[in-house]
Amino acid sequence: KKVMELVDVWKVYDLGEVKVEALRGVSFEVFQGEYVIIIGPSGSGKSTLLHILGCLDRPTKGKVLIEGEDVSKMSDRKLAQVRNRKIGFVFQSYNLLPRLNALENVELPMIYAGVPARERRKRAKELLELVGLGDRLHHRPNQLSGGQQQRVAIARALANDPVFILADEPTGNLDTKTGEEILELFRKLHEMGKTLVVVTHNLEMVDEGTCIVRIRDGRIEDVERRGVVYGDT
Ligand code: ADP
Ligand code: ADP
Repeated sequence: KKVMELVDVWKVYDLGEVKVEALRGVSFEVFQGEYVIIIGPSGSGKSTLLHILGCLDRPTKGKVLIEGEDVSKMSDRKLAQVRNRKIGFVFQSYNLLPRLNALENVELPMIYAGVPARERRKRAKELLELVGLGDRLHHRPNQLSGGQQQRVAIARALANDPVFILADEPTGNLDTKTGEEILELFRKLHEMGKTLVVVTHNLEMVDEGTCIVRIRDGRIEDVERRGVVYGDT
């Protein structure tokens, strides 16, 4: 099953005298259960691509289909809804709300989605148990280590059972050992059949992917598919 597709996507940043072509005709599809790794040199368009995949930004030209639905022309309001319900975000910098504890951070996307209080509390607790934080439910971000904060962020990303998880350098701020723990968690999500799309420089993580996408100068240079894809493809 195809969960996401880009069709001839261009992104041009207009800086007055100069125009920067950050993406130049990117076409690419992601199937359910794939573990997609995006690699490429600095300035090649990885962040731009991730923002477009995440519906945080719109392409200058081309189509973005999520579960077959074209999101490139949706209203901002509808787009925000797609983001909250269908995409789970994991950032290098965790992006947790500092005044909320772990449970409340994980509940937040479910509040926006209108999930009743009792149900979302139960699900948040289960998700925190899944990521190994069952004993840290009431800790606030500053009472947690970087690795633990990233686990909370991963639990939050799973909250609305998204179509895919997008991660931007999820191990980028972590030491090697903690990074490996996050790597293991991504492996577990992959084995559970989750669809993952990750930008990373972490070579161990690159090894785990089932689809390696190389970009250079705003174009896809190579797509290599390999290994086991769990879930229903
Ligand atoms: P990467 O994530 O691979 O480093 P980016 O997507 O950040 O690449 O950048 C791709 C190109 O687009 C670069 O030339 C960068 O300078 C340019 N770029 C990115 N964001 C903007 C922006 N907001 N305004 C203008 N140019 C941008
Ligand atoms: P980078 O350091 O690669 O630029 P950031 O962590 O700063 O990545 O976030 C990238 C973009 O995503 C920013 O434009 C930010 O506003 C947006 N963003 C950050 N957190 C969230 C979130 N939880 N949900 C939706 N968008 C977010």
